[in-house]
Amino acid sequence: MTARTGGRDCTYCPEPGADTCVRTQQDEAGSRHIYAHRKCADERGVIPLYVFTDEPKPIRR
Ligand SMILES: [Zn+2]
Repeated sequence: MTARTGGRDCTYCPEPGADTCVRTQQDEAGSRHIYAHRKCADERGVIPLYVFTDEPKPIRR
C-alpha cells in the first residue's frame, strides 16, 4: 500500500507525507522545494507557498 501523498519529507519533523510547500531554494543546480506538513508550518507561523490537495477536483462542464 502506498501513501497517496508519497515521498515528500517534512522539513520540520521526521514524518513523511508533507502536504505543503513552505519555500523554494535556488542554487546552481536549480531550485529545490522545501516541504512541510500544514500543521508543522502552522505551529511555526510559516505561511505555505502552496498546498497539495489529495482530493481530485471534479471537472465540470
Ligand atoms: Zn511535519
